[in-house]
Amino acid sequence: MSQILHGIGVSPGAVAGHVVRLAPPPPEPSAGGTVENPQLEADRAIAALADVAKLLRGRGATVGGTAEQVLEAEAMMAEDPELHDRIAALVADGRSAARAVHEGLTGFAETLRSLGGYLGERVADLEDIRFRAIALLTDVPMPGVPVLTTPSILVARDLAPADTAVLDPAQVLGFVTELGGPTSHTAILAKQLGIPAVVGCPGAADLESRRQVVVDGFAGEVVVDPPETILRSVAARAAARAAATAPTGPGRTADGTPVALLVNVGTVVDALKAAAAESEGVGLFRTEVLYLSRSTAPPVQAQVQAYRAVFEAFAGRKVVVRTLDAGADKPLPFVHHGHEANPALGVRGLRVSRHQPELLKDQLAAIAEASTDCPAEVWVMAPMVSTPLEAAEFVEQARGFGLTTVGAMVEVPAAALRAERVLQSCDFVSIGTNDLAQYTMAADRMEAALADLLDTWQPALLDLVAAVAEGGRRTGRPVGVCGEAASDPLLALVLVGLGVTSLSMAATSLPPVRRALAAHTLEQCREIARAVRDADDAASARTAVRRLVDPDLLALL
Ligand code: PEP
Ligand code: MG
Repeated sequence: MSQILHGIGVSPGAVAGHVVRLAPPPPEPSAGGTVENPQLEADRAIAALADVAKLLRGRGATVGGTAEQVLEAEAMMAEDPELHDRIAALVADGRSAARAVHEGLTGFAETLRSLGGYLGERVADLEDIRFRAIALLTDVPMPGVPVLTTPSILVARDLAPADTAVLDPAQVLGFVTELGGPTSHTAILAKQLGIPAVVGCPGAADLESRRQVVVDGFAGEVVVDPPETILRSVAARAAARAAATAPTGPGRTADGTPVALLVNVGTVVDALKAAAAESEGVGLFRTEVLYLSRSTAPPVQAQVQAYRAVFEAFAGRKVVVRTLDAGADKPLPFVHHGHEANPALGVRGLRVSRHQPELLKDQLAAIAEASTDCPAEVWVMAPMVSTPLEAAEFVEQARGFGLTTVGAMVEVPAAALRAERVLQSCDFVSIGTNDLAQYTMAADRMEAALADLLDTWQPALLDLVAAVAEGGRRTGRPVGVCGEAASDPLLALVLVGLGVTSLSMAATSLPPVRRALAAHTLEQCREIARAVRDADDAASARTAVRRLVDPDLLALL
């Protein structure tokens, strides 16, 4: 009897395979025993943490790009002096090195968990450090991805970024985790690797090794012991994808309406990789990713170098640079937020310039210098703009540095509702559906338990997208989408039907989105969008769209 587990599809594609489970975490070190030389014991604990940091950095260097930055941030947590002091105090109090690491990191994680927000996300990183350090100290195998000899489906309670980053797409057909939300690091890295993945999937942790499953990263389903019919349909989908000639060239609908297809990048390495994909440029350059692990503000010339490298990689194409979006899920050590009870509603994004205006000034100066005589068409935009006044002030400031095409991200419902006024000063806007979903639904974007509310098919979110597109139509200005919604091929049709003029996504998502657009006219997209806005919830919106789209296209997703 087959069984279906439901989770969040974060990286599309359907695959069948057998389960391989991650090596389990080491057993909890016992609390008993005596320590003869506390100094030696404390040194052992700190040395193990240093080895973990080294391992993380080594893995980061192998893969580069955003993954390297994420692993660097995790390595820095293992080196945190406060953590080391806490562990040394525990050893002085009679704990063994392994027990002190266990208690020290568990306590740290509990504190972060109770603070909520993005800090919940860091708990997975702390757990990963704890397990690895204890494995080293107690001489048991390191937890994590086993060496795979046949292509398999990896199943875990959670997958640390350190493991996700080094997954080999040739051996890992897909993966399923019990925890993790749609915008967790793990989900973003999976999409970059192009491995079908389902996260936030209750019941996944109970799947035994060697069980056969189908992972559908598009539908967010895991079929356990799949019947022949499902296996045949997965094989047929794979064969159809391989046989279909993928459309090429600039993004456009079947009747030729242009919809620019762009990529999201976070680092120079990401940009160099993404430049090889067929796209019309970069729709979102998340500059804060470059600096996740810097303890001091990046000097202007270092910024110029990094930005110039990205512009050169996209010579002849457009690059939309987003100014630093620090705070909440993307903390930067050199940006001071003070204590915030709720960082997602705090001083983040453009708001940081209220207290640290020099960061934005330096960055605008660096972008302007890097774009002088550069081969790319450079646009710049600010994150977390809430009011037309904030937009106008940002535009004026950026123009003062000689930047010519200046816009705002629409991620806050207030900005969406007043998009026409925001667009009166801006040359363009780009909708960040990840944050817009979070603020529209009052649901923390890191909270896997609220994934149904964060679903980008929520009609309320799409009503706000429609309001922004209407502002774009009235002012004659472009309205892009650069949140994860843009990478869902069916939702892309909805967005275009609502009036969105460009879509930006992970490079691996470009072909299915290009294909979906090429199979539908603008009028069909509009009809699809109307059906979604008539729906009462995300599930019925999806069902309505599946009935309207080209059935041959569905077979290819
Ligand atoms: C968004 O919020 O949709 C977005 C693109 O920005 P980020 O995911 O970096 O917050
Ligand atoms: Mg955002």
